[in-house]
Amino acid sequence: MRDTPAHATQPRAALHGHYPHAQSVAEFRQRLVAVQDRIAAACARAGRNPADVRLLPVSKTIDEAHIRMAHAAGCRALGENKPQELATKAEAMADLTDLRWCAIGHLQTNKARLVARFAHEFHALDRLRVAEALERRLQAEGRGLDVYVQVNTSGEASKWGLPPEEAAPFLRALGAYPALRVRGLMTLAMFSADADRVRACFAGLRTLRDRLRQDAPAGMTLDDLSMGMSGDYEIAIEEGATVVRVGQAIFGSRALPDSHYWPGMGG
Ligand SMILES: *Cc1c(COP(=O)(O)O)cnc(C)c1O
Repeated sequence: MRDTPAHATQPRAALHGHYPHAQSVAEFRQRLVAVQDRIAAACARAGRNPADVRLLPVSKTIDEAHIRMAHAAGCRALGENKPQELATKAEAMADLTDLRWCAIGHLQTNKARLVARFAHEFHALDRLRVAEALERRLQAEGRGLDVYVQVNTSGEASKWGLPPEEAAPFLRALGAYPALRVRGLMTLAMFSADADRVRACFAGLRTLRDRLRQDAPAGMTLDDLSMGMSGDYEIAIEEGATVVRVGQAIFGSRALPDSHYWPGMGG
């Protein structure tokens, strides 16, 4: 690994590949260690400290029994794409009081209540109407929420997120919503086997963040970059990710095609 130049890292063949399913606490531990090892190796290639990269396991479609195994294996935060699924699971596993549920997918205003009540983080903020709905619900709940502004770095119409040029005014407008603690930016890279194109999406988010920092509202440090999933998290880390959202490499391949989560994607 040491001799592999950073630019040679390839997306895992398996953008839609076959990841085995973990079926026991011991297997989940192994899976988590394997991913953390790859995170550490990617950090070493990039001259970064592994402590600066947080693994957020993504448990969408995974049933309660397996989530409880993952928790027993050490998962203390889980990402869910759909607000209703997040809420149902958070309620069913309310006894796991040290588990933080994180909403990572597109949100409609009529589901803001669920995120405000059950989520600790929201990674896909891209509309002021959603910010407004969340703020109102969070005030009612007496809670705050860590948020990441989603940017479309691939130019693909199938991806949610703000066009990069709209990010600066959007961040300024977020100052009006004190319950939303803006941590940084989030993106989904292009789904491609071409590592250079995937890398360009991640590098684009980092460059945008660096630029936005220069005149960000007071107190908004934009420290975090939420980017990278099972197929491309190592590339994301080489480009500065501080949070990687990894589902299948921990829980196993999903039966549902990604088009279920990203409208317009091929299955
Ligand atoms: C499902 C999902 C992920 C994780 O994808 P995997 O291929 O399971 O690693 C990351 N981010 C978002 C927004 C997701 O919906």
